[in-house]
Amino acid sequence: MTALVRKSIPIVALLVFAMIIVGGLIRQGDKRREGSFVAMGGIPVRVVAYDRTSARFDQDLQAVEKEVERLEQMFSRHRRNGEIANLNATGRGCIDASPEVLHLLGQAKRWYEKSHGAFDVTVTPLIELWKAAERANAMPDERARAAAAARVGMDKVRFSDTRLCFERDGMAIDLGAIAKGAILDAAAKVMQGRGVRRGLVDAGGDVAAFGEGAFNIGVRDPFSSDRGRLMGVLTMREGGVVTSGDYERFVTIEGQHFSHIIDPKSGNPAQGLASVTIIGPNATDADALATAVSVMGRDRGIDLVRSLPDFGGIMVERRQDDSHVIWCSRGLMPLFELTSGWEERPIPF
Ligand code: AMP
Ligand code: MG
Repeated sequence: MTALVRKSIPIVALLVFAMIIVGGLIRQGDKRREGSFVAMGGIPVRVVAYDRTSARFDQDLQAVEKEVERLEQMFSRHRRNGEIANLNATGRGCIDASPEVLHLLGQAKRWYEKSHGAFDVTVTPLIELWKAAERANAMPDERARAAAAARVGMDKVRFSDTRLCFERDGMAIDLGAIAKGAILDAAAKVMQGRGVRRGLVDAGGDVAAFGEGAFNIGVRDPFSSDRGRLMGVLTMREGGVVTSGDYERFVTIEGQHFSHIIDPKSGNPAQGLASVTIIGPNATDADALATAVSVMGRDRGIDLVRSLPDFGGIMVERRQDDSHVIWCSRGLMPLFELTSGWEERPIPF
């Protein structure tokens, strides 16, 4: 018996050795892969997967692109014959809607409640009001403001599992503040469904990451029009990071820039925060919260983020004298590193 065991040891050792070599050869073909395509209004969408063969990754990339396109068509109010575009074209009464749209509306409603109405996907008439003001190069007048405001309010929308009802005529949904996050999460889910164990999807700095280990995510410089310029790098575990800011899209009236994010209560563009980066368990909620905080401003925004233990935030506050202050969730302080040129220490909250 002892002899048998002794004899079998070299055989076992050889087998293990052979397995390591063969395993090593297989793994050599599996490494970090990266690809991209353009979507969501001209943004490069970067897809990264670890431990993937080149052939498989090509298919992953195609599957992700297909899903992004499908959801964009569904969620964008600017897509001809898209579901939201069609709902808005009706803009009154009750209309059938898909489970996916109704699910996202349910999530939007949750953030409407949590933000006490600062996040409101029915804000469309006010967005259109400010776009018209830009075209006319004149501030919107009181009557036009009141008329738009009367058609805004998530409390005037009811929905069930199959239908959506507008309580006022001329209402319209704009999912722009939450759909990008939802699309990133859906893209990450497609990859996971295909067997990718670790990876990320990045749309212009907004990221959904999944799998073990840490990910380093660049946070954009809110004062630069160059997308590639970073303010800092955030180290995260799986989840979502989304930044809301006025550096990308804004309206210009009489030479003055206004944010594309509107405070539904006042009807005015949000002010005060140049950018809000939110990190959370998924990109959908991070996206909604980043927009909500942009509307709520420094103090109320900080209070909201602090009340949500699964979320953290980094905000750049614009001061009257054109200086700025960086605010950072206490828990994120050791995970956030500013790039050179940003010498000031963030203030923890
Ligand atoms: P984000 O870049 O995620 O902050 O989304 C901004 C977009 O959301 C805007 O371009 C509008 O389409 C829409 N939006 C503007 N204000 C609000 C608001 N208060 N609540 C929800 N969506 C908004
Ligand atoms: Mg958002």
